[in-house]
Amino acid sequence: MEKKKLLGMTPDELKEVTLSCGLPKFAAKQIADWMYVKRVRSIDEMTNISKAGREALKENYELGVIAYAGLAESSDGTKKYLFPVETMVNATLGVENTAVEAVMIPDEDRATLCVSSQSGCKMGCHFCMTGRQGFHGNLSVADILSQFIAVDESARLTNAVFMGMGEPLDNYPNVMRAIEVLTSDWGFGWSPKRITLSTIGVLPNLRRYLDECRCHLAVSLHNPFPEERQSVMPVQKGWPIEQVIEMIKEYDFTGQRRVSFEYTMFAGFNDDKRHADALARLLKGLECRVNLIRFHKIPDFPYDCPPQAVMEAFRDRLNRQGVTTTIRASRGEDILAACGMLAGQHNSKK
Ligand code: SF4
Repeated sequence: MEKKKLLGMTPDELKEVTLSCGLPKFAAKQIADWMYVKRVRSIDEMTNISKAGREALKENYELGVIAYAGLAESSDGTKKYLFPVETMVNATLGVENTAVEAVMIPDEDRATLCVSSQSGCKMGCHFCMTGRQGFHGNLSVADILSQFIAVDESARLTNAVFMGMGEPLDNYPNVMRAIEVLTSDWGFGWSPKRITLSTIGVLPNLRRYLDECRCHLAVSLHNPFPEERQSVMPVQKGWPIEQVIEMIKEYDFTGQRRVSFEYTMFAGFNDDKRHADALARLLKGLECRVNLIRFHKIPDFPYDCPPQAVMEAFRDRLNRQGVTTTIRASRGEDILAACGMLAGQHNSKK
């Protein structure tokens, strides 16, 4: 019988575990503390639980922390970790062994982890290496949290962005549970302000996210014109960006929670005055920020990144129209860890 994973469980769920294993109730709090505060990597390290208790736990449960299987380090200090995961594709294809990546980006006193939520992605954005590989399955809560626990910088992580492989709102229950663990007093105890979830606008779950979660939101916009956007982002057909922005405008972003828009720049496709002006019109009345992102060329995609001067002119035009816009520094390009470059290593089926 497959063992259940403890990583990701709430205190109430852990109480049931302790009861079923004949452990005292207070052991639930001890287990949560070992997992989420001390961030151990095995049940054997939970030394204030009796040896017999640990053995009883191990009969039906495992911790669920996966160790990274590969590491690449950029000249700018960015580190890309490779995690082997098992995902359930669907009933016909069964379980697959795949790999996902997490990227640690150091920046002065911050260390931000860019986390994956799926192996591959269903959304098929033409400019994205993850989208190119198709969908291999959702990550479990333990797989998502493992990325936080297993990286060498676990103890000094300050922020997280759900911007790695996959569309987080397409794996809603697991991503939300991981965020609950990260932001609860009984979990990592992080403020929601330290976490940003990035989406291309999965409308039904976006509504739930905005209602249920206090973390920041980033939306991949990339083109203000529906037809042009749809030509590189198939999602536009089902969940148009106009409706996404309309929904976002119903919520308050003037306080703690922030919304930003990611705009990857493609020369000759979305980088002229017409696009800047349409973008400013689309975002009118919304307290937000636009991040311009350098496109990193991938095979079989016709566009390049525009020159720096074009990006700066685009930024300035938006700023003049009252839309706070910055050009995001690109990190980890030399280890293929920058935006849109994560592909993992796709292994064989079981
Ligand atoms: Fe999926 Fe995001 Fe890549 Fe689009 S950009 S294919 S949503 S991972």
